[in-house]
Amino acid sequence: MKVSPHFPENYNLLSTKALETAIQHVPVYKEWKALDPGSSVAVDERFQAMPAISKRDLRKHTWRNFIPQWADIDAALQSGTIELVNTSGTIEERITNVWYQPWWDASEAASWRYNSHTAALKLGNHREAILTSPMNTGILSENSLLTLEQRSLGRFLYLNEKINPALWDGKLIERIIRELEIFQPTILEANPSYLAKVARYAHRHDRQVFQPPVITLTYENPGILSRKHIQKAFRSPLISSYGSTEAGYVFMECEQGKLHQVSSCCRVDVEYMRPEYGYPYVGRLLLTTLTNPWRSLIRFDVGDLVQIDPAGACACGHDDGYVGSEFAGRIADLTYTTDGAPVTTATIESIMAGWESVAEYQVFQQDGIYNINIVLDEEDTTSKSLKEKIIEQLLSLYGRSAVINVRFVEKIETEPSGKYRLTRSNISVNIDRLFVKGDL
Ligand SMILES: [Zn+2]
Repeated sequence: MKVSPHFPENYNLLSTKALETAIQHVPVYKEWKALDPGSSVAVDERFQAMPAISKRDLRKHTWRNFIPQWADIDAALQSGTIELVNTSGTIEERITNVWYQPWWDASEAASWRYNSHTAALKLGNHREAILTSPMNTGILSENSLLTLEQRSLGRFLYLNEKINPALWDGKLIERIIRELEIFQPTILEANPSYLAKVARYAHRHDRQVFQPPVITLTYENPGILSRKHIQKAFRSPLISSYGSTEAGYVFMECEQGKLHQVSSCCRVDVEYMRPEYGYPYVGRLLLTTLTNPWRSLIRFDVGDLVQIDPAGACACGHDDGYVGSEFAGRIADLTYTTDGAPVTTATIESIMAGWESVAEYQVFQQDGIYNINIVLDEEDTTSKSLKEKIIEQLLSLYGRSAVINVRFVEKIETEPSGKYRLTRSNISVNIDRLFVKGDL
């Protein structure tokens, strides 16, 4: 059951360097030194012996303690080599990050190699339109609309200034469609839920939309249902690009639909779900940055689940690093059967994507009660038989004693961060119960 990806020649060397620098020179990892079995064992084993760090740790220990002691932080801040940026979200979610642009740019450029469409484009100085919540990136305007000029920043155009799409009307979606045509971006980078709304509108009103050479989907995963809707209006290649502010670019989808680890910049350790839950090779990602001199990040639990492809090969020809077949959702968004077995967001999305008229959904679990909100495509009327079919399918998934309440609603609300959280449970996450430590 062991998955043994091929790694680039210097991967183990970079991994060793990252780990040794951390435990010898980075304040926050001082206590990890005692856990290190030392250089006589394989580097993978050394990593496995270490704990994981979480966003909570990043907040608690603050950014300075993640930088090697030899670095002159204040001089670098003063010269502008690095800067401090705050991530979005609620106060409890917010993190101050040290931002080192050359590292980010190199990791982004490395990700482009994994897809023939991005590899073929001359990227770096390209026009890029961004469709997401200004809580993630961009310029927020709660009351009035901003002009195209006000939403432009260098080669970037932010297509949306509202916190979330619940605040959009037809006129704003028309503006997004019009501006795509005017701006003609090489890349449209979009939150899949947001772009699905534009695509559904365009499809419903028979509107032609500008087809960017590439659409990258980011900010939200897995996006199975959204992709289905996006493809009703956009014929551009859809590419999942996965990363985080903390760890840079981590996985890039190739033209064959597989996810490739950006193995020159980021080390990935995977802890798989316990076999009894029936999710073979679905695991949580622990990320280590290999090339950022301004932040030492070791086994960062980013909170996401990926379906790893154990064969590790792909028809696109890239065979370095982990190969994944899909994002399975967030660990915090798992729901549970009445027997306590986890159910991923990807499982729910695959079920929902099977019904043509389901446009959006949300699942709230309260112990044995599952409240399901469904938004139907506008031309569809509430259907009694659809409700029964949904209930039947979810009963066989969650357990016969589950109470399934299905409601057809006008819209699904986002989180304060502007992101959609499509599944959630009141049952708290138990990492040890969910995952196997080490190899399967
Ligand atoms: Zn591939």
